[in-house]
Amino acid sequence: MAKRDYYEVLGVSRTATPEELKKAYRKLALQYHPDRNPGDKAAEEKFKEAAEAYDVLSDPQKKARYDQFGHSAFEGAAGGAAGMDMNDIFSHFGDIFEGFGFNFGGFGGQRGGGNRRAANKGSNLRIKARLTLEEIDKGVEKKFKVKKQVACKTCGGTGAKGSSYETCPHCHGSGVVVEVRRTILGQMQTQSVCPHCGGEGRIIKDKCHDCRGEGIVEAEEVVTVNVPAGVAEGMQFAISGKGNAARHGGVPGDLIVVVEEIPHERFERQGNNLYCDIYVSFADASLGCTVEVPTLDGKARVKLEPGTQSGKILRLRGKGLPEVNNRFSRGDILACVNVWVPQHLSRDDKALLEKMRDSASFSPNPTGKERRFIDRVRDLFN
Ligand SMILES: [Zn+2]
Ligand SMILES: [Zn+2]
Repeated sequence: MAKRDYYEVLGVSRTATPEELKKAYRKLALQYHPDRNPGDKAAEEKFKEAAEAYDVLSDPQKKARYDQFGHSAFEGAAGGAAGMDMNDIFSHFGDIFEGFGFNFGGFGGQRGGGNRRAANKGSNLRIKARLTLEEIDKGVEKKFKVKKQVACKTCGGTGAKGSSYETCPHCHGSGVVVEVRRTILGQMQTQSVCPHCGGEGRIIKDKCHDCRGEGIVEAEEVVTVNVPAGVAEGMQFAISGKGNAARHGGVPGDLIVVVEEIPHERFERQGNNLYCDIYVSFADASLGCTVEVPTLDGKARVKLEPGTQSGKILRLRGKGLPEVNNRFSRGDILACVNVWVPQHLSRDDKALLEKMRDSASFSPNPTGKERRFIDRVRDLFN
């Protein structure tokens, strides 16, 4: 469905002043307010349409773009005007409705609350996800048993027994209290959240027994977390709405997952690269051989040239860990070759080595082409 012109939606001319825009929007918003039109989908659409139009036209920058490019100014753009939901509308324009005595919780029950109810936000929960490098390599689905506050089943999280509410006598349902003070500069007016109802505008007449009117109870819940591949120690990600439930059916908090890496027995991690040591015998290093280098999902076979020196770095490209959110970009495995020096020798072994010691070809004879320590270190960090 093609979008209507925003000026047409609000019924104002293109030269309307900010005051006129606000007035026009307020009129429509009150007319189509969900509390006045319960269950009326058409009214809800009109309510949203008006909010979207006002969102754009009340913002000088957005308005300028709209005047120049029309609706295409916001196509696909984040932070554009499209797709505002009810919560957005109330959190953006709550002040528009101030003083009209609407009970914002009235429709909010379905969606987790409007402006006032947002005061009831569940707290965030933190859990640690201990992961092996193998799990980090592929990404993993983990289940956690979490002790948290959940909505009370008996009252559906409202805290009220059988939906028994009365309008808050303190703020008369507005959720805010206005205080007028006389100062030397004249009258000062301050507005604050009503302490009696916590901004909800209503109070519970009969409290639910199971949660003592709070709407939340302690429970243990199994939470499934999809850990993306490539995460690293200390990284955090939030799963929205999986934290503690809020009092009186407000918005639940988030579950914050903190990544903890379990040390690997073979690999040391640096960024997305993995370092390890491999050991070969003096004979294998001298004659050349095929060595097995460990990888996260098995091993790779790599050929060693005859005369390989201790300290040579074997690089297995793309066998390291993936970039978070980009499985196609991977680090490398860097394996350092160590020539193993025997520690327990038989008499025959000793005789053999004595002979080797006398042979000129077994004496160190660097030609300058061997990789120096410093080169290898440079290699490691490139
Ligand atoms: Zn309850
Ligand atoms: Zn109140």
